[in-house]
Order: sequence, then C-alpha cells, then structure tokens
Amino acid sequence: MNSKKVIVIGSGVAGLAAAIRLAVQGHQVTVFEKNDYPGGKLSHFNLGGFSFDCGPSLFTQPQNIEDIFEYAQEPVEDYFSCTKIEIACNYFFESGKVVHAYSNAQKFSNELQTKVGEDPVKVQNYLLNSASMYNAIGTFFLDHSLHKLRSYFSKGVINALLQTKASYLMNSMNKYNADSFQSPETIQLFNRYATYNGSNPYTAPAMLAMIPHLEHNQGTYFPKGGMISITNALYQLAIKKGVKFRFGDPIEEIIVSKDKVVGVKSSNAEIIEADTVVSNMDVYYTYKKLMNNSILAKKVLSQERSSSAIIFYWGINHVFDQLGLHNIFFSGDYKKEFDHIFNSKNLSDDPTIYINITSKCESEHAPNGKENWFVMVNAPHDVGQDWDQIKHQCRQQVISKLSRLLKINLEELIEVEETLDPTLIESRTSSYTGSLYGTSSNSKLAAFFRHPNFKKSIKGLYFVGGSVHPGGGIPLCLKSAKIVSDLIRKEYE
Ligand code: FAD
Repeated sequence: MNSKKVIVIGSGVAGLAAAIRLAVQGHQVTVFEKNDYPGGKLSHFNLGGFSFDCGPSLFTQPQNIEDIFEYAQEPVEDYFSCTKIEIACNYFFESGKVVHAYSNAQKFSNELQTKVGEDPVKVQNYLLNSASMYNAIGTFFLDHSLHKLRSYFSKGVINALLQTKASYLMNSMNKYNADSFQSPETIQLFNRYATYNGSNPYTAPAMLAMIPHLEHNQGTYFPKGGMISITNALYQLAIKKGVKFRFGDPIEEIIVSKDKVVGVKSSNAEIIEADTVVSNMDVYYTYKKLMNNSILAKKVLSQERSSSAIIFYWGINHVFDQLGLHNIFFSGDYKKEFDHIFNSKNLSDDPTIYINITSKCESEHAPNGKENWFVMVNAPHDVGQDWDQIKHQCRQQVISKLSRLLKINLEELIEVEETLDPTLIESRTSSYTGSLYGTSSNSKLAAFFRHPNFKKSIKGLYFVGGSVHPGGGIPLCLKSAKIVSDLIRKEYE
C-alpha cells in the first residue's frame, strides 16, 4: 500500500487510537492537538498530594485496547494492565437500602433479592437477554459503519436485524425495566445505564438495556495507575509506531479542493498538505469552525445533545470503609431528575450523586488516611445557564445529602477542591455545549442518525470519536477508530 500523508485533528482516545492504526498501515501520521497534553477528556491532574482523573472513571471492555496493541504487534503488558473489580458499584438508596452490585451475575441477583426483594430469576434472565442483545445486535451496530452498504452484507447482520424486536425500539428503557422487575430500586438501578451515553431512560429506547451486559457479564476493570494510564499507553504506542505530535497547535481550517481534502491550516497560518484528514474534534465544530459550513453543522444538531456534568474533585481527610471505587447515591425521584436535565435544562434539588475513589485501588492517589473523591452529578448541556450559581447550589445539596447519609460533616473533611462544568468541558476539549457523549440516544433511531465516520461528498475526510458513530464513551471511541482505519485501508486498497 502507498504511504499517504494523514493528519489527525485532536488527541482524544479516539484520535490516538486512529493515529496508531493508520501508522501501522504504513501512513505518515501527524496529530495536531490544541492542548499541550494528549487525551482530551481523558486527562489527569495533581492537587495538594491528591491525584485525580479528570473525566472518565468507569472502564469496561479492555479488549478494545488489547486489539490495538495486537494490531500494532506490540506486547500490551509492556504498556498497560488492568484488573477486574469484584463490585461494579455500591448503590445507596434514599430508603436507606444499600446494594453491592457484584460483577458476578449470580452474586448480584442474590444481593438484589436479599436487599430489595427482587426476584433473582428475573435479574438473571434480564442479564442473559442483555448479553444476547449485545452479542447479536450490539456487535453489528457498534463494530461497523452503518452508512456503508457493504456493512449490511457482513456476517451476522441478518441475525442482528431479526433480533432487533420492535419493542426494543418502541419501548423506553424505563418501560422495559419496569416490565422486567418488581422492586423500584432494581428499576432505578437498571435505568441508570442510560446515563452511560448521556441519555434519558424515560425516552431512550429499550435497546440500551444491552449496556448492563458490559458490567455484569463481561466485567468492570480498573487500569493500573488509574484511567490516565489508558491515554499514556496509547500515546507511548503512537510514538513507538512513528506518529508525530504537535501539541499546542490547533487546526483552524480543513482545506478542501474539488471535493477532496488537500490539507489543513494550523494556528500560525502554516499550510500542511495531506491526503487524508481525520477529525477527532466534535463534528459540529469541525463543520462550523474548520470548514465554515453552518448548514452541515446545523444538521448535526437535529439530534438532541447528550447530558453533561458538574464535577467536584475533593481531597478528603478521612477514609470511608463503606465506600468502594464506584458509588452511587440515588435521588428519591429519578424521573424528576431527568425532566430537569433534558427538559428544563437545570438541576433538580435532589440529584443522584456518583463518587469515584481511585485511592481505594491505588494507594498513592491520596496521602495516607485520606481519599481522592471525584464527585459527579449529571447536568444538562450548556444553553447559557448561570453555572457559577448552579455549581454553588449543587455543592450545598451534595454536601448536605452525603453528610446526612454518611452521618458525618463532609464540608469539614474537604482539604482541596477543584470543579468542572459544561463550559469548562467545552473550552478544554471543544465539545459543543460541553456534552459528554456528543449526541444522546434519546430517540428511537439515534444509532442511525449519529454522524457517519466519513463525509461522502468530500473525499479523504473522516471523523472519529464520541461525537460520531458509534458514540461516546471509551469503548465506543476506540471502536470508531477501528471503523475509520478500516474505511481508510479500503479506500487505498
Ligand atoms: P475528546 O476527549 O473529546 O478529545 C478531543 C481532542 O481534540 C481534545 O484533546 C481537543 O483539545 C482536541 N481538539 C479539538 N479541536 C481541535 C483543533 N481544532 N485542533 C487540534 N486539536 C483539537 N466515558 C467512559 O467510557 N466512562 C466514563 O466513566 C466516562 N465518564 C466521563 C466523565 C466526564 C466528566 C467526561 C467529560 C466524559 C466521560 N466519558 C466517559 C466520556 C469519554 O470521556 C469520552 O467519550 C471520550 O474520552 C471522548 O474521546 P474523543 O476521542 O472523542 O475526544
């Protein structure tokens, strides 16, 4: 194969993974990154002796990373390792009940029976169905471009389409869960999986019920060193495979001539020629800012944006034995919470709180006798709200709820503090309106309406990452890199 000049715009996980795969194919790959560090949303910082991952905290499907190393013929264990964790999440309900969601399906269903009176057979059947949904339908939707005819002739596609029951598309996830379980706690717990791609369980299709399969059949993992080790491993592999990086060098324009990409213009007005450009920048901003095409940009917005988040990074001067790596403190009224996020575009006064504590697994992440808390509350994307005021109010509600449930004065334990909100997410990673996962899956055919990984009318232009097919979250971003590199390989074959 001829070696082509490839430019990747952005070094998020998907940009890094695409750059590696394309370098392995023999192309000359240069990644331009506006920040002075790689990883985009998957970055990291230290504060007062505490270590914090900035964005993603939940890691599933390590095979997506292993695949990249296998493709590059490098031993993954020299760069990256992770361990399966026994309890996927600790759930605290307003009723005072606490459920330990074991990764093991049998143990998990027994726990739900003991703690909230759920029928364990219903839970096991649900998880079996979740597995068959994922294996038959998910793999087709997530591993292929849905916008190439040849995908529909691939192995398993007939099976996938046959297994896509109308009820998976017509029913909401909440309806599906309410029909599947008897206890309100179990319904709320399984509804939460819609938030894994920034969606609303009361409108998103039941198809999302395949997500629990990832945690309770395949398992949840903790990367050694924390989430940042994913970025570090991919960055090191990219360097090893000859990818060149230009940090602090944003691309300002994608240059197109006669319906073909011919290069890019960087921030110092330098023109760099290219045969192929892969944009890891949010597809909305790629069209709007780099191609000055408001029409195409506006089309992206026909799909509802995913939710965003408010995060408090707290160095806590205490060790909480009742908490684990992942912890959820549910709101009393889940429906109201999502109405606020997706309809009123504000926060309810009783938000569900997620706490991630990596010092539970990695003792160096916090000084002795202390913990590093990543406290996240789902929030609407930015539509011009007063985020300082919302954060202030949210902080008080979170501290008051946690102090009540953990029976301690939390405010007094916070030693150091940093925050993140939708406007900061947007300014740091150019994600339009600060959405965590690009567009949501709130509509029935969202999977088909996500932007494709290429632009049919512009040769040589590709898109990778959370704002395009197959979607946001680390596993899907890594899958999008594989889809894009396969499309480019076919183009040059
Ligand atoms: P991004 O990480 O968005 O990176 C894009 C990169 O492009 C950035 O580095 C940006 O600076 C760069 N860029 C943009 N424009 C330009 C330009 N013009 N020139 C040069 N560079 C440019 N996922 C999970 O799997 N599990 C989780 O638990 C989870 N939790 C999350 C929590 C938070 C708070 C956030 C923010 C996200 C979370 N996600 C989670 C989602 C996950 O982080 C993202 O889906 C994923 O990291 C997106 O990667 P990406 O490759 O699409 O690009």
